[in-house]
Amino acid sequence: TLSPSSAASDVYKRQTQHIAGHDLSVTASLGISIYPDDGFDAIALIKKAETAMRNVKESGPNDFRFFIEEMNQRARDQQTIESGIRLALERDEFVLHYQPKLDLGTGEVVGAEALIRWLKPGHGWVYPSDFIGVAEDSGLIVPLSKWVLAQACRQACAWQVAGLPRLRMSVNVSAIDFRQRGFVEGIEQVLAETGLDPSLLELEITEGVLMQNVDATVGALNRIKAMGVRLAIDDFGTGYSSLSYLRRFPIDVLKIDQSFIRGLSRDINDAALGSAIISLGKSLKLTIIAEGVETLEQLNILKAHQCEEGQRNYFSKAVAPHEFSLLYTSPSQRHMRR
Ligand code: C2E
Ligand code: MG
Ligand code: MG
Repeated sequence: TLSPSSAASDVYKRQTQHIAGHDLSVTASLGISIYPDDGFDAIALIKKAETAMRNVKESGPNDFRFFIEEMNQRARDQQTIESGIRLALERDEFVLHYQPKLDLGTGEVVGAEALIRWLKPGHGWVYPSDFIGVAEDSGLIVPLSKWVLAQACRQACAWQVAGLPRLRMSVNVSAIDFRQRGFVEGIEQVLAETGLDPSLLELEITEGVLMQNVDATVGALNRIKAMGVRLAIDDFGTGYSSLSYLRRFPIDVLKIDQSFIRGLSRDINDAALGSAIISLGKSLKLTIIAEGVETLEQLNILKAHQCEEGQRNYFSKAVAPHEFSLLYTSPSQRHMRR
């Protein structure tokens, strides 16, 4: 018997099945609605049970949950965001801000990460954590990512024309994009249309993307790599990458997740993991980027471990394109304060 407080995962032992060379495990997500509180007919009850089930899946599957009214409110909020994104795409309300990537040794800006923001009329700035998830669930991430990629490549070219040094432009790619047919061709097309040197483009992929359908992923990554585009693993250390897979992917860069950087100076385990990731990356001949360096102490530890690059709000958060180019025209800002 299940009591509402006991997680289904406690009673349901997950068994891994070895099928055709893959380790597979099945999870069960259960949504429950009750007559007559949640509805008077089957359609209403099933709808609410489904809403509860979706809620379970979103917060990590393999559990069960009873329907509560707030779940409907959440679904309505998601609907509002979804139609907002649709309109925003039509009305051109998205903008890209750019966060400098610094060479931790010399302090020079060596690249930029394009980070999307939504300037919602009558509301102000909306940040990706508030809409990327809905964009992914609704499939709107596909046109959104196309726009981001083209816009970031155009900006990288514009900076070249304006005489800025050769900067690497990093673009975040979602797992959904990766599964789209024609994704690789889309990158090829953007590069051809904008004329950007492919070696100046870097795609940031999370570990989740890599671990789904490994053979197909390796194939797509090799094709992207063959174009000369660089590949980075974002938020490294937070997913479930098997280290042996790391050798199979044609990756150039590991970005150590902010959570390890934050703990560098105060948590002995984070410090150990951080330095282990740097050594691992170095032995695989990858560039290591530390994400979210906020204090001088963290910076010094990273430098002592010979971590090559970093992104840090202390130096500059993500800024509008014209502000980014000011980093080059103002000598006092050109180098990172050490
Ligand atoms: P991410 O790719 O890991 O991006 C790094 C995030 O960390 C950015 O937040 C950045 O502003 C923040 N950050 C950088 N340095 C610091 C620091 O020193 N301290 C702190 N506290 N934060 C720092 P942002 O812009 O809110 O982006 C969040 C996430 O949204 C990104 O994580 C990425 O996964 C996603 N995202 C952003 N833009 C796009 C996009 O164009 N497409 C897709 N698919 N996802 C995007
Ligand atoms: Mg990123
Ligand atoms: Mg990250």
